[in-house]
Amino acid sequence: MSTTGQPSFFDQVNTMFDRAAVFTSHPEGLLQQIKSCNSVYQMGFPIVRDNGEIEVIRAYRAEHSHHKQPTKGGIRYAAVVDADEVMALAALMTYKCAIVDVPFGGAKGGIAIDRRQYSKRELERITRRYTFELARKNFIGPGVDVPAPDYGTGAQEMTWIMDTYTSVTDNPLDALACVTGKPVGHGGVRGRVEATGRGVFFGIREACEVESDMRSLGLPKGLEGKTIVIQGLGNVGYHAAKFMVEAGARIVGLAEYEGAIQNPDGLHLEDVVEHRSSTGSILDFPGAKNLARSADALELPCDVLIPAALEGQIRDDNAGRIHAKIVAEAANGPVTASADRILNQRGIMIIPDLYMNAGGVTVSYFEWLRNLSHVRHGRMNRRFEAHNARRILQVVESLVDQRLGTPDAMPSQIMTDLAFGASEKDLVNSGLEDTMVGAYHEIHEFAQLHDTDLRTGAFVSAIDKIATGYTQLGIFP
Ligand code: NAD
Repeated sequence: MSTTGQPSFFDQVNTMFDRAAVFTSHPEGLLQQIKSCNSVYQMGFPIVRDNGEIEVIRAYRAEHSHHKQPTKGGIRYAAVVDADEVMALAALMTYKCAIVDVPFGGAKGGIAIDRRQYSKRELERITRRYTFELARKNFIGPGVDVPAPDYGTGAQEMTWIMDTYTSVTDNPLDALACVTGKPVGHGGVRGRVEATGRGVFFGIREACEVESDMRSLGLPKGLEGKTIVIQGLGNVGYHAAKFMVEAGARIVGLAEYEGAIQNPDGLHLEDVVEHRSSTGSILDFPGAKNLARSADALELPCDVLIPAALEGQIRDDNAGRIHAKIVAEAANGPVTASADRILNQRGIMIIPDLYMNAGGVTVSYFEWLRNLSHVRHGRMNRRFEAHNARRILQVVESLVDQRLGTPDAMPSQIMTDLAFGASEKDLVNSGLEDTMVGAYHEIHEFAQLHDTDLRTGAFVSAIDKIATGYTQLGIFP
């Protein structure tokens, strides 16, 4: 329980776990081991602010499960971070990694700061000191625990983490693999920045391809013409919106920290972003209506609602007023456990966070592999593949010439389009798509098998895989 008497975030994740566990046949002790959080490191450290004052910063790192190592999970900078929150988010990471077959245990970190109150120099000092504290207690390392970006952090913080870790480790050879989400020039992988949003798009697209599910929601198959509302225009929300629009969806509502806007005829994403960067707000966007409160956007009628900000946004008090047909949980924990029941009873489809935003950790896995192998994906075979394809096309061309007596050379554009080798970005995006498509059908099958919702199906899939992992280790009978 939280101090407010409401179930805490971690309790809520466990409630959802328990709902699914009844569909499995694993011993109670094993289920307890899977859902308990193995270690939480809570720390306080001083930093000197630009004005010379000393401030004590509160920070956390939770490693939920070591059934696979390293553990993996983002680091968030948010004023409200506490131990319960990082435990809940670390647990979701454990289940998420299992669902998409990424061989990591779950972890999560957080620093309790509102980053807008700190200068870049101060953020650098905080990040470096946090990394140093993690290294001292063996909570970071390529084979130990590997952070990534999350709410309020990005490539810059990951670079500071990598640089600090490199300076204290006695294994500099693999040090780049201590963190993912780095810029490409510092060991990052192409496609990581947009990976979570791209994964959200693949997941929604897959859900909308199942004709029988769409029919029962009263929706046509496919993404073309679907109306969407997005809460949070940060890394995940912006990219999810961008790929959805490219596939033919129409944005009818947007919510940010400062407020929300609506236009049933559609909001142009890039123009809103431009308007926000020039005025500091999405409000008063030409042609759109301002909503009274930011959270009102969640209640707009639409086909797909994409909460992409923080947890606890859809609760008992507003779940009855959600008018979306599909809620795609791009953020972690945006729907509370009790609101989840209300939405399900109302026939709203929820694509659950532990699957929906797994694109980030999937591509982080590709980055980690790249760092440990010390070679860019595709570097060894790209040109070889292109030459091979060109040779095959030339043989086909000469056979056609011989048979039909048409000595025209194949148009060079066709040759260029077909005879190419996959770049790192091609490989990353195709690995991501394959993972998201495969995992969707897996959780969908579990949901159908047990005649339940997608979240429960996703938890069953995760529990079974983790339990099998423990059994194979020979720890449990
Ligand atoms: P971000 O910091 O890039 O963006 C979050 C955005 O939400 C910001 O623009 C912020 O102003 C906005 N916001 C905050 N509170 C809001 C509110 N009440 N209403 C409307 N907007 C609000 O963070 P992000 O990386 O996009 O993460 C968003 C969510 O996605 C988090 O739950 C995070 O855990 C989850 N997630 C992120 C990743 C990743 O790769 N970054 C991976 C998996 C899951």
